[in-house]
Amino acid sequence: MSEKINIHWYPGHMTKARRMMEENIKLVDLVIELADARIPESSRNPDIGALCAGKARVLVLNKADLADPVCIRRYVEAAGKDGVRAIAMDARSRRGMEELRAYVREACAAKLARDKRRGIVGRPLRAMVAGIPNVGKSTFINSFAGKACTKTGNKPGVTKGKQWIRMAKDIELLDTPGILWPKFEDPQTGIRLALAGAINEDILEPVELSFWLLRCLEQSYPGAVAQRYGIGAGTAAEQSAAANETVTDGGDSARLLGILTQIAQARGLVKAQGAPDTGRAATVLLDDFKNGRLGKITLEP
Ligand code: GDP
Repeated sequence: MSEKINIHWYPGHMTKARRMMEENIKLVDLVIELADARIPESSRNPDIGALCAGKARVLVLNKADLADPVCIRRYVEAAGKDGVRAIAMDARSRRGMEELRAYVREACAAKLARDKRRGIVGRPLRAMVAGIPNVGKSTFINSFAGKACTKTGNKPGVTKGKQWIRMAKDIELLDTPGILWPKFEDPQTGIRLALAGAINEDILEPVELSFWLLRCLEQSYPGAVAQRYGIGAGTAAEQSAAANETVTDGGDSARLLGILTQIAQARGLVKAQGAPDTGRAATVLLDDFKNGRLGKITLEP
């Protein structure tokens, strides 16, 4: 499975994105690293520290509205112990923005003090957003580009062609985000990224992906599936027979296929011959997870 993912990943434009990010990083004081709160570890790039060397950094756990608040709190604490300021955010509703502004100033305190010593006052802090595809970079930037924010650019002292968005009186945000790429030598990371919509899920088989999700939910959020679809547990293994599906290992897969069968039956998803359509049930389950309809869930321990 991992091999399949890697073929579709690391395309040429990623190299270009990295180069662009390295160029833009020179223009800013601070990098706002966006990660997906549902998969905080898997959605971060391990090279970010090296890429941002010498710059202040704040970690934003975006899509916090979809993630488990307890896991978010733990991750924020753990990041803090590693010396990284982290904050939960919902870029669509702008929840967390005020706190972020305070963090940005705090993270850049040393720089502000240095400026002051040199007699530079009133120069705004400059920040750029970076993160993997689909983590919400554009949404985050657009949240600032609302009516209240003025775009600045093409004026003396501003690099030609760059657009800056005012985040606060003293903070400007580059309107071009840096695109990072996730690293997933570990196939589990690839699966998490696919489930969160960070990589094209079409490259993975929906039923296989849904099995992984079901196992994870059973372990950490028992009851979430039963509650969503109004199905009971226990009879799942028998149900797979009703779907006329053959499963080779006859063990866990049969049981999980049974759950998909129950979902198909609960939703009236049937194939032409009238058998429960477990393939469509898998797609429904994956879509419901992605849109937070199974509850606030984090896929990492
Ligand atoms: P980008 O590729 O990093 O620029 O990501 P986008 O800004 O295009 O966002 C990808 C998808 O995630 C879009 O459908 C957004 O509406 C959605 N999105 C972005 N931020 C959030 C958030 O905080 N919560 C939720 N639920 N969805 C978000």
